[in-house]
Amino acid sequence: MKICPLCHTKFEDSAEFCPNCKAQLEDCEEVKKEEQKRVPRSFWIALFGTFAFIGGMILLYKVVYGALM
Ligand SMILES: [Zn+2]
Repeated sequence: MKICPLCHTKFEDSAEFCPNCKAQLEDCEEVKKEEQKRVPRSFWIALFGTFAFIGGMILLYKVVYGALM
């Protein structure tokens, strides 16, 4: 089974290109592997972003608190 990367239409293994978008078809298993790789990366970016945001808020709080005192 192959899938079109643009319109996500599924085709037989013998098909090379999508007749709708003219795009080269990707193997379904490869698409799944790419999606699995993307999830951990976005998770770490979100985790890093959350810690960076909390760290920024603490730093901002200390600056404001220090200015008031
Ligand atoms: Zn297509």
